Amino acid sequence: MTANPYAWLESALTTIHRADWYRSVQAIEGRSGAVVQIAGQPVLNFGSNDYLGLAGDDRLIQAALAATQAYGTGSTGSRLVSGQRALHEQLEQAIASLKQTEAALVFSSGYLANLGTVSALVGKRDLILSDQYNHSSLKQGAVLSGATVLNYAHCDVVQLQQLLEQHRERHRRCLLLTDSVFSMDGDLCPLPELLALAETFDAMLLVDEAHATGVLGTTGAGCVEHFGCTGRAIVQVGTLSKALGSLGGYVAGSATLIDYLRNRAAGFIYTTGLSPADTAAALAAVTIVQQDPDRRAQLWQNVTQLKQALQPLSQQLTATTDTAITLLPSESPILCLQVGSPAIVLHLGTLLRQAGIFAPAIRPPTVPTSRLRLTLMATHECKHLQQFTTALSQAMQVRWDG
Ligand SMILES: *Cc1c(COP(=O)(O)O)cnc(C)c1O
Repeated sequence: MTANPYAWLESALTTIHRADWYRSVQAIEGRSGAVVQIAGQPVLNFGSNDYLGLAGDDRLIQAALAATQAYGTGSTGSRLVSGQRALHEQLEQAIASLKQTEAALVFSSGYLANLGTVSALVGKRDLILSDQYNHSSLKQGAVLSGATVLNYAHCDVVQLQQLLEQHRERHRRCLLLTDSVFSMDGDLCPLPELLALAETFDAMLLVDEAHATGVLGTTGAGCVEHFGCTGRAIVQVGTLSKALGSLGGYVAGSATLIDYLRNRAAGFIYTTGLSPADTAAALAAVTIVQQDPDRRAQLWQNVTQLKQALQPLSQQLTATTDTAITLLPSESPILCLQVGSPAIVLHLGTLLRQAGIFAPAIRPPTVPTSRLRLTLMATHECKHLQQFTTALSQAMQVRWDG
């Protein structure tokens, strides 16, 4: 018998294709920004997490170059052995200052920060309550921890309270997990209510600020600041790879929490420290977030402008074409246009691409319903937003006519 133990891979891929769930990668060319190139063609970029347009900013690039010159390319070891540089500590202090927390700890990615933190805070005897739409890294961290994991319906604090009433007492520690800005919808978690429940039921609260840091709050500290919860007992996790334009993740909170994680988070201890270039770029970005609030204001102005255009346009297009298109509620620079099926959203994405617009189609199983997911940047110009709405109208008409 010559059985092939990998034969199932082909049929698994066939199933993925049949469901229109197949994905592939494509290269973005040129420097990050509101306009990039794909396959040699300039496209308007509505698909990056670079909310403040810092990934292509000269100040970050110079900081990364200078750090590379000074320290070399790799950090050459785990932070606790040989990977620590003065830059890491400077970055951690800058993050703690932005977040108004006692301390912060930098990880090699946001994903790893969540895996490491969740699995260090709870174990077998403990309980995790998690929003059903939480990011993969929180869900995987919960599994890794070995705790009992219960999901509550998206943002449903009534159900969360019921679950706490039913299950809290039978467990040692309890951890509530939530994204602050939900990455595939753009809505916010009900933070004050979650915090009140955490306090009532003696539970820890971990908030993933990946899409909020640099974006929300008066000083750009995130959703915690936006909701006036600065200084409260919250474990704040986030990434350096979105509005901060670099790579890496962090946890911010009490000095005791950070000290504990430095000693117990496997995702911090057993991985190589963040590279000097990434660390320096993130440090430059935090400084810009703190010193240049106008950048954030410009981002929000763009959000308001595009929302105001898309609301009536989506209604009008739903009425005049054979495809329902709905702008989902959002309180962030993530705007989603929900479209009927995976096939339709793919087609719409292709038509927009032909019109010079990069707006990724997001499909199940990543999200329950297919959608175009637009992310706005501070560096989008008025004319870019107009180009998008024009291209969307035309793409919808083409679909209808053709
Ligand atoms: C992007 C993201 C992460 C992962 O961050 P990386 O630094 O890219 O690994 C974690 N949580 C949420 C909510 C995210 O959107």
